[in-house]
Amino acid sequence: MSDNCIFCKIISGEIPGKFIYQDDYVVAFEDLNPQAPCHVLIVPRKHIRTTLDLTTADNELVGHIYQVAGKIAHDQGFADDGFRVVNNCNEAAGQTVWHIHFHLLAGRDMIWPPG
Ligand code: 5GP
Ligand code: ZN
Repeated sequence: MSDNCIFCKIISGEIPGKFIYQDDYVVAFEDLNPQAPCHVLIVPRKHIRTTLDLTTADNELVGHIYQVAGKIAHDQGFADDGFRVVNNCNEAAGQTVWHIHFHLLAGRDMIWPPG
């Protein structure tokens, strides 16, 4: 738990979130400003600031996040058509919340290269 971290506050229930999945390691909730029909944020309960702050102790956690992304995509019916998992690291990539998170986007055709 980090003070003034919006995602820590959502995880603790201090501010509301539309949760669609949770377990001992991660939570997943709907993005406030969705960029696709399905836009879910998969967030570790552990406060990790950016991708650069991951350590080998987090290897299993990151693998688990991808498993959860696949499970949610499957459960919501997007797995066969396809989906995207995005992690933005630092300002130039568009990171605005400093608690690591993985965007699960699905339900529309995606363009490449991404913006
Ligand atoms: P980033 O830009 O850091 O990769 O992604 C942050 C995401 O968090 C954005 O897509 C933004 O819409 C979402 N977000 C910011 N504040 C809140 C909030 O209070 N609740 C929820 N559900 N999403 C938020
Ligand atoms: Zn946090």
